[in-house]
Amino acid sequence: MHRRRFIELGLAASALAGTVSARDDRYRPGGPWAPNERAVNYSGYLDNDQLGERLRRIDERSDRVDLERIGESAGRGDPIWEVTVGDGDERVHIINQIHGDEPTGAEAMVEILQRLATGSAAEIDRILDELTITIVPRVNPDGANFVGDDGLGDNGEFRQRRYNTSTWADDDSRYANANSYAYNLDVPGYDLNRGFSIVPGFEPFDEPEEWWTVVDEEANLGYLDVPVDQVPLDLKDGDPYDELWSAGLNLNPETRAVTESFLAADPDWALTHHHQGPTAVPEAPDGNSGPQWQSIMSVMAPYGPTYANLEGVDYAPYVAEGNPFMSVDAQTRSLQLAGLVPERMDQFGRGRLDTITRYAYGPLWGSYLDALCPQTDAAGALYEVSHQSDDRGQKALGTMVKVSVEGIMATFERIADGSIHDVDETTYFDLPIPEGIDNPHDERGSSSRRR
Ligand SMILES: [Zn+2]
Repeated sequence: MHRRRFIELGLAASALAGTVSARDDRYRPGGPWAPNERAVNYSGYLDNDQLGERLRRIDERSDRVDLERIGESAGRGDPIWEVTVGDGDERVHIINQIHGDEPTGAEAMVEILQRLATGSAAEIDRILDELTITIVPRVNPDGANFVGDDGLGDNGEFRQRRYNTSTWADDDSRYANANSYAYNLDVPGYDLNRGFSIVPGFEPFDEPEEWWTVVDEEANLGYLDVPVDQVPLDLKDGDPYDELWSAGLNLNPETRAVTESFLAADPDWALTHHHQGPTAVPEAPDGNSGPQWQSIMSVMAPYGPTYANLEGVDYAPYVAEGNPFMSVDAQTRSLQLAGLVPERMDQFGRGRLDTITRYAYGPLWGSYLDALCPQTDAAGALYEVSHQSDDRGQKALGTMVKVSVEGIMATFERIADGSIHDVDETTYFDLPIPEGIDNPHDERGSSSRRR
């Protein structure tokens, strides 16, 4: 099957023969990476209009759900939606598809909202009584729905990409932020998960010039490094840094909408959904010496020095001391949010969904979790299902939606009945760090692992 595809592509069989068989060893038949002959067409995902329509229908049919338009995207001016459900004291905030080519979270949210809007099971009742859930199903409509040459059209090629479509202008900020602005794309844009500000109320130009480190005069690119003593948040777990490197500026409408949504929701718990490149569980989960399984999903929890210095933990590729602005309680709960996921997946049988791995944490100061969680003392967790939208097979889409839905529903249930506090938070550190693998169907090889 794979060989036929390579021959069709006109690639030299001699150059690939060794590689193909080596790669084939890494897969089990029927695994989550179907051949590209059955790759998902982009039309298999909800476009912005379709997503809006699905959310409106759920809202109209259920008095449990409140749908609001909280902003619009920088380029297309498409709506950024927020859905609220439940009226309990435990507050949960969830964002999805902040990277446009990571669409599974939005698809999973539609399924979850349908369950919460219409379900009559006791668990659903308890969730609605105990939790207030605020969901931004799709943070980056421009990247999710990039159409034509400029991304803004109604006709033309439909694709998905990581970035939005904002072009930096010199009255936006002193310098274009080198940690998030991709100026050399056909259409420039921002990586929105590098653009949040950990300084509450921050506006670009508030900062002194000397916080910037200029790396490219011609392109006006620089990094914003914020002295820790200028961050108006309490250090709750040590004081390991002098400055926070590569902070975000909160200058895009998408990050502004999410920040306002987050602060208004005042969450105790925060989840963000992503995709990663393809990865494999280091050892076959059933202990056989046979081929490895692909990992369905990695989970990540942010934590600070208290957990960054445990003995016997493989932190690599770990960066520094974590996030000291989160309370130790929020850190513990973050690890519990991540640790409950493999527990849930165990019930689906060997090698199906129980291939959960650990995404090694290091703080990204412009990210949703690291910048916003300290502002409400929220616990946080990040899901990364395997494969970006342009390199996985059709079979994978259903699997990735399922693992996302199951993990998030388990989270709701365990917050609602209080049993999340029974999760051993060190379970997270027992999860294996996955190995990267290359796409066996594509000569471009593996996408990089970035959250
Ligand atoms: Zn991502």
